[in-house]
Amino acid sequence: MITVFGSINVDYVFQVGSIPAPGETLLATDLALLPGGKGGNQALAAARAGASVNMVGAVGKDGRGDIALAGLRAAGVNTDAVAASDKPTGTASICVDAQGENSIVVYAGANESVSHSQLDAAMLGADAILMLQMEVPLAQMSAAIKAARAAGATIVWNLAPMQAVALEALQGVDYLMVNAIELDQLGQGLGLAATDTLHAKVTRLAELTHCSVVVTLGAEGSLGVHEGGVINLPALPVAPVDTVGAGDAFAGAFAAALDAGQPFEQAMRWGNVAGALACLKTGAQSSLPRRQDIEEHLAKLL
Ligand code: ADP
Repeated sequence: MITVFGSINVDYVFQVGSIPAPGETLLATDLALLPGGKGGNQALAAARAGASVNMVGAVGKDGRGDIALAGLRAAGVNTDAVAASDKPTGTASICVDAQGENSIVVYAGANESVSHSQLDAAMLGADAILMLQMEVPLAQMSAAIKAARAAGATIVWNLAPMQAVALEALQGVDYLMVNAIELDQLGQGLGLAATDTLHAKVTRLAELTHCSVVVTLGAEGSLGVHEGGVINLPALPVAPVDTVGAGDAFAGAFAAALDAGQPFEQAMRWGNVAGALACLKTGAQSSLPRRQDIEEHLAKLL
């Protein structure tokens, strides 16, 4: 069982001819209201990949929480531990122009009220996985990690979007996941040499944190360090339509594979396949692949 402790948003995606300049008012040609937030995306990714998933987060009492949670509920994610906050549901306003360039404003809203006290013991047993990102308060995530550690659960932390985090906060975690940009940001914060190769940075990060580390590398696949060994897996070759959500697809499928008892390297393969398949459709949640699709492509890799 996987419990995701993270953000839940509604994304307003405006299609515009050009990104508005300061002081400019534009008419959008289309508007889509889509469920989002990295927590929600990864919970759905894990559920689609076949895992049994609890979502722990918060939405506002503004009716928009139902929009944010609809996809999760349809996929069988347990949303009973999603709290109702007095703050508005987390919202992203996204302008996308004809060239696909975007400009985004995010309001965390209810995500700021998420509390570690929403986790219950049944979510944190020795065979449970706690999954986190970086879109709810750091102090609450640290408390959640502490409780999960004490209960013997496995902890997967996707450090996205990156923010300053102390080395000690990372040391209680089992699996750290970052993309290439986040690895550089984290490396800077931890004093790793900017000139180090990717391989050297990842290895050093694993040594410093005592964690297994996964770095996603877009079309280059992924690199992992686990129990001292380095694994480099090429991406599944695809012709991408929209790479939004690839990282979330990877994270959810990776956790679902661990939950299904797969070894580290195979979990990275699940992530690579899910990440690539998510590039074949537009949107974050709508593009997340299902277990059967992942398995079909995995079989082709072997
Ligand atoms: P993020 O979305 O967080 O920046 P990445 O771009 O690294 O994350 O993508 C996550 C994973 O999705 C990659 O490790 C890879 O497996 C897969 N992926 C992303 N882009 C492509 C691509 N163009 N072709 C094939 N796989 C991709």
